[in-house]
Amino acid sequence: MKDTLRHAGKRKQLVEVLIKKGIKDEGVLSAINKIPRHLFMDSSFEDHAYQDKAFPIAADQTISQPYTVAFQSELLQVEKGDQVLEIGTGSGYQTAVLCELGAKVYSIERQQELFKKTKLFLSKLGYRPKRLTFGDGYKGMEEFAPYDSIIVTAGAPFVPKPLLSQLKIGGRLVIPVGKKNQIMTLFIRKSENEFEKRELGEFRFVPLLEDKN
Ligand code: SAH
Repeated sequence: MKDTLRHAGKRKQLVEVLIKKGIKDEGVLSAINKIPRHLFMDSSFEDHAYQDKAFPIAADQTISQPYTVAFQSELLQVEKGDQVLEIGTGSGYQTAVLCELGAKVYSIERQQELFKKTKLFLSKLGYRPKRLTFGDGYKGMEEFAPYDSIIVTAGAPFVPKPLLSQLKIGGRLVIPVGKKNQIMTLFIRKSENEFEKRELGEFRFVPLLEDKN
């Protein structure tokens, strides 16, 4: 596990690319500037780690494109100490961004292999999310609700009700909704029963799977 000056230089260039694409949040940009993304991927893909691209990881899943991670993270408007729930731990890269933003992170992954690997890896890197669990993200994590924000990192065919109900009043849910392509959707909880909804463009994710097969 090595992080060198060469990697740091490439990260800086990636940050410049994200700024050009419209990312403004200083906290998000500085997290991306700091986190060694190449260590979250198989070493044979190392050369691709700082391109603005999604990439394959274990269990047929992907590490999201840096722009997507930045876009979603910015929408969450994380403040230090916020309780944030992530659905789809995957490689743990997004989890690390949330930790860098000072969030108390809870994350759910449904692939056992990834769950185990990422749990070990994040702790090796020194990241301390509050809880990483193996389970079904459609149900959220009732035990630690309500959350200041919830981020879904896989394409959801519909908006799972438990995720809306586990938000604080004023809380934000960022979820890509759709089957083949997804519309990035932001829900802000205005009161017990009212949600403001904003649609923020098209993205492409691996699917949020419903049943373990
Ligand atoms: N945040 C991740 C993105 C991984 S891709 C990263 O930065 O690397 C989406 C992840 O969602 C995959 O790891 C996939 O296994 C997981 N996933 C799919 N359906 C799920 C579900 N129902 N509950 C929890 N995780 C799920």
